[in-house]
Amino acid sequence: PVVTRFAPSPTGFLHIGGARTALFNWLFARHHGGKALLRIEDTDRARSTQPAIDAIIAGLDWMGLDWDGETVFQSEREARHAEVANQLLAAGHAYRCYATPEELEEMRAAQRAAKQPLRYDGRWRDRAPSEAPADAPYVVRLKTPQDGETVIHDAVQGTVTVKNSEIDDYILLRSDGTPTYMLAVVVDDHDMGVTHIIRGDDHLNNAFRQLPIIRAMQAIEGGWDDPVYAHIPLIHGSEGAKLSKRHGALGVEAYRDEMGILPEALFNYLLRLGWGYGDKEVVARDEAIALFDLGGVGKSPARFDIKKLQNLNGLYIREADDARLAALAAERIGPQADVALLQQAMPALKMRAKDINELADGAAFLFKSRPLEMTEKAAALLDADARALLSQVSARFGNEIDWTSEALEANLKTMAEELGLGLGKLAQPLRAALTGQTTSPGIFDVLVLLGKEESLARIDAQAL
Ligand code: GLU
Repeated sequence: PVVTRFAPSPTGFLHIGGARTALFNWLFARHHGGKALLRIEDTDRARSTQPAIDAIIAGLDWMGLDWDGETVFQSEREARHAEVANQLLAAGHAYRCYATPEELEEMRAAQRAAKQPLRYDGRWRDRAPSEAPADAPYVVRLKTPQDGETVIHDAVQGTVTVKNSEIDDYILLRSDGTPTYMLAVVVDDHDMGVTHIIRGDDHLNNAFRQLPIIRAMQAIEGGWDDPVYAHIPLIHGSEGAKLSKRHGALGVEAYRDEMGILPEALFNYLLRLGWGYGDKEVVARDEAIALFDLGGVGKSPARFDIKKLQNLNGLYIREADDARLAALAAERIGPQADVALLQQAMPALKMRAKDINELADGAAFLFKSRPLEMTEKAAALLDADARALLSQVSARFGNEIDWTSEALEANLKTMAEELGLGLGKLAQPLRAALTGQTTSPGIFDVLVLLGKEESLARIDAQAL
């Protein structure tokens, strides 16, 4: 059975890279009918915060990513981490190191001077326990293999090999007895039964430090199998460099609140950001579960493209339920918004909007009070000629009994013909008068949504 996990460190919001890692883990588990687990890696007490935990959980929830079983909090498992370190110690796979901080600084200074890589030199690796200074603080270090090499067949990166001599004897337990991140991750993944570790490729180096713990524990008690690793490339900005805030490195709540993105659009976009299935761009949830695999994950960094996200968002907006969109737009418009009217306007509004902000902006004319505030462009359209035409429109529409978009269209077309004018000559000032803007849903939809009385009042306010 497949078991994946998403293991965020709650030191900030759920950013776009983390959301994609979560999505891939979730999809892989769902595709295989396995389990997707959530582990909050809150061992860095100084940097982990409750608001960050809440934001991560809310962000995952908003994207529709649900997790199996209880959420695991890494900080609650320190005793278990120490237990494994002590097993390794007892079996001779780890040792106590009494080197003082000053001593280690000296060691590094010498390495720096000799232009050697900075790493612990194993000075306590082979010393007899009897050499230990009494009552002195110590750390527990893993006795990593020194000969040969470690090979990882990564499901995304392919075969990666590192010489064991390059991995130093790193710390498992600090002198205060607390576990290091490296130990905690391995113990938790084992205890949670994780079979597939899907995470950012900034963790590939860590895999070569984590595997020796797994293999040592396998030698001690069995049942510690190598997981399948899949290290996915990071997301880059559109210029190819690291993703900056300006180019999308925001929390998912910013996509929701500031950019007006629908969760299904972000889901689809993040899926396509690094994973592909032929040239398919639109892959919604159920199809994603059916199609997702690790073979489709690309090896090179994905580039964040805000235009693509907006296009997908527009597409999902057009498919979304009108009542839901009306509620989302109403939140942005404020207390003057009439949700029922918004819902009526949605079929016309959603045809052109790429995000919820545009939807709200497009609907704003419905709730303006008279006299309408005009954009500069709209005001410029309303010259004396236009105002004279609006008087005629008002007179004709005043007599219109059938206030439907078909009847109003026929009416305005007839008038344009009689006057020998293009329809635009009438429709443009009419739109300006009705909405205060130069862009809006179709003018006949606008008339119907505003109703006869309000439409005539707005036209008359601008007519000569
Ligand atoms: N907590 C780590 C992070 O947020 C992830 C660790 C892992 O996936 O192994 O970067």
